[in-house]
Amino acid sequence: CGVFGVVGVTDAANFVALGLHALQHRGQEAGGIVSYAPDAGFNSARRFGYVRDNFTKQSLMETLPGALSIGHVRYSTAGSKAAAIRDVQPFFGEFSMGGAAIAHNGNITNADALRRELIERGSIFQSSSDSECIIHLMARSLQRNIPSRMEDALRRVEGAFSVVAMTRTKLIGVRDPLGVRPLVLGKIGDGWALSSETCALDIIGAEFVREIEPGEMVVITAEGGVESSHPFRPQPSRFCIFEHVYFSRPDSIIGGRSVYETRRQIGVELAREAPVEADLVCAVPDSGTPAAIGFAHESGIPFGMGIIRNQYMGRTFIEPTEQIRNMGVRLKLNVNRALIRGKRVILVDDSVVRGTTSRKIKEMILDAGAAEVHFRIASPPTAWPCFYGVDTPQREKLLAATMSEDEMCQHLGVDSLKFISLDGLYRAAGEAEGRNAKCPQYCDACFSGEYPVKPADMIEKGFQM
Ligand code: SF4
Ligand code: MG
Repeated sequence: CGVFGVVGVTDAANFVALGLHALQHRGQEAGGIVSYAPDAGFNSARRFGYVRDNFTKQSLMETLPGALSIGHVRYSTAGSKAAAIRDVQPFFGEFSMGGAAIAHNGNITNADALRRELIERGSIFQSSSDSECIIHLMARSLQRNIPSRMEDALRRVEGAFSVVAMTRTKLIGVRDPLGVRPLVLGKIGDGWALSSETCALDIIGAEFVREIEPGEMVVITAEGGVESSHPFRPQPSRFCIFEHVYFSRPDSIIGGRSVYETRRQIGVELAREAPVEADLVCAVPDSGTPAAIGFAHESGIPFGMGIIRNQYMGRTFIEPTEQIRNMGVRLKLNVNRALIRGKRVILVDDSVVRGTTSRKIKEMILDAGAAEVHFRIASPPTAWPCFYGVDTPQREKLLAATMSEDEMCQHLGVDSLKFISLDGLYRAAGEAEGRNAKCPQYCDACFSGEYPVKPADMIEKGFQM
């Protein structure tokens, strides 16, 4: 998901709509915006579909007045997949000291247990979303102000959370102690912005100030500026390395690094680790493109646009049902036959999850007359599900959970298949010494099976680490 908020600018909701539009790659199912104005109180709008199809209408935006606003774009990882508007964030709660709205990116790993406990004690849940727990935990806190109630609530929550929240006067941002999901601070005129990624600061002309640190809470007012605190016990950070590989936009800066540069460097590492003789390097667009550019540069094999993407389709993976996903590949990608014919082609993609995409693409490339197809993958084999906010399927459906690299190669029917090593990925992400096995610098659980936070709910459901 993507979260965004601004304080201290006129018609803040318009800025939030723009920010969410720039974060649309983080979630395409639905979006929501809450705003506050002293004479109009809290207002909210939650809609299915793209930001641009909803939050551009003047009649809707007029209902969201004020200088303080937050928003969310949703991609369901927890809660029901069946589309329900009640699952669309931000969530809102009314407390004795006033209202508050929250938008959450990440996944709460003890949400089932918390929900059971809260329901037993009288909470009335409105949604199936894990994020709603935060509001109910806040309601039960005895603290006198909303930021302190949020601290109380979030100390009970396990897993990954980057939260943007608002009260009548304050914009609040928090990252979980491991800093699994991103969150950045920006300055716009006399106001401030919080965003999942820097690309959304760029779109509103805000200046990137800094990242919110893992375990940090910032409370921001238009007049008073940014107050920072660290409500959690400090821990070494474990930022999601898959944000670098796939999830974030390449024009964002995360962890002080350009996502594009990391991806390009992954391609360089891949070319060193798994070279192959070929005539052409192609990307599976868009997420494979920077790595393919790096691969071509390092190998000296020319880069070409062998697969063309229809810009008007969304990300296939994020379409929640299997059926749509199966069709999605052909709706979205087409082969540039004139370029491919007769060539030995290296195809660079970001990841192999179920293998559906890779199989379809291989067929398309061979149909177009390619002589050979070699897959190079910009992440290690995805052998474990993510419980921290990226929607990987159950373990059984992950190709790499049941097959070796050779078996996957056979299954996909390609001439060769190689994944970047975990160390190579870390080097590309700026860790010159590679992965520190004793204390990994990133979360890489979907590749290594080493979960930095115990997925309590899943273990209860029988998941074996
Ligand atoms: Fe990111 Fe993978 Fe960790 Fe999930 S399991 S947070 S996708 S690195
Ligand atoms: Mg892809």
